[in-house]
Amino acid sequence: MSNFSTHNFSGERALIRVDFNVPIDKQTFAVGDDNRIRAAIPTITKILKDGGAVVLMSHLGRPKDGPEEKSSLIHIVAHLQTLISKAMDRQVLIQFANDCIGDEANNKAAALKGGEVLLLENLRFYKEEEKGDPAFAEKLSKLGDVYINDAFGTAHRAHASTAVIAQFFAKDKKMFGLLMESEVKSAEIVLHKAEKPFTAIIGGAKVSDKILIIENLLTRATDIIIGGGMAYTFMKAMGGQIGKSLCEDDRLETAMAILKKAEEKGVCIHLPGDSIIADNFAADANTSTAPSDLIPDGWMGLDIGPNAAEQFSNVIKRSKTILWNGPMGVFEMEKFQHGTKAIAVAVAAATADGAFSLVGGGDSVAAVNQFGFANAVSYVSTGGGAMLEYFEGKILPGIAAIEA
Ligand code: AMP
Repeated sequence: MSNFSTHNFSGERALIRVDFNVPIDKQTFAVGDDNRIRAAIPTITKILKDGGAVVLMSHLGRPKDGPEEKSSLIHIVAHLQTLISKAMDRQVLIQFANDCIGDEANNKAAALKGGEVLLLENLRFYKEEEKGDPAFAEKLSKLGDVYINDAFGTAHRAHASTAVIAQFFAKDKKMFGLLMESEVKSAEIVLHKAEKPFTAIIGGAKVSDKILIIENLLTRATDIIIGGGMAYTFMKAMGGQIGKSLCEDDRLETAMAILKKAEEKGVCIHLPGDSIIADNFAADANTSTAPSDLIPDGWMGLDIGPNAAEQFSNVIKRSKTILWNGPMGVFEMEKFQHGTKAIAVAVAAATADGAFSLVGGGDSVAAVNQFGFANAVSYVSTGGGAMLEYFEGKILPGIAAIEA
């Protein structure tokens, strides 16, 4: 693979797989949260400034059966144009091809001059994209002289545009974009160069979603903090009373096996000693505080309690490496967001003290953004599922294809 930052794109057409899968308003088709588009701008502008041309390809939504208006990437053209023009300090017109392959795309891509940008229509209007069809990938590959993958969010998928396409480019003509590069670099620090103590904070709803990541971290972390709904399966497995808290009864043995393995490996597992409990899963529920293993019947734990928040914060503040995946409670409701907020404060404090902190996985990312801590941690990953699979120890096809 080639190095993006040192590659000179002058005179080349760069075909970039980006992740422009942003929310689009159903009525007005206006772009909502544009973070994913913004994340790709540095890669695009570097190429344009070098004097290269850019061909952008992405998916949007989940079209079932071919083209459909609500999933057309034409809706983002104006927004993209504004962002790129601002970054380039000049008006950059975005051309659009109504089909990602075929004559129109071929002709428009062939006619591109240095400094120009072409956006292709939604890749997923073709079933071949998700199937990883090589013939479809080869057609796409003709639209660029170099291939750049900057879509970390889909790196765990072996789709035509994210992985299969790479085989049609020579080693020095395929590379990660700047976003992908920083995602991979940050994940590698945590997985392979973590300074100890290394604390992993794992939360969210279900143990079953997080078993693989916890197992992989048992060989790497010094401390694992377990919060959120999944903590109650552990509590019950240890003989606690958890009322009507979330629990996966078919995972009680798994929870015990994790605790046993942690003990064997000398990894300290931290469970919340107390919880904020509620009589109902609702924003206006009656609440109280209780030990997490003594939750009365009819009540459920919806957040870690104040003692747990303090205990977890102390562990976090003495850490040198921190990985955070999953909220500590139902942070979407104000009454149950204190725990997640306290963890964000502690991670920010540890980071200010020199720790490397990575927040990855959908809901903890949403939480740090919501609470305004995104700039107070070392890295916030854009790829939920991809980051999770990376930390489960899986090889991501989108990364492997570039490195091959
Ligand atoms: P995940 O996608 O597995 O990371 O789970 C995130 C979701 O878990 C969020 O929507 C939270 O509201 C939810 N969650 C966190 N803690 C609890 C809890 N104690 N009980 C029920 N749901 C929870």
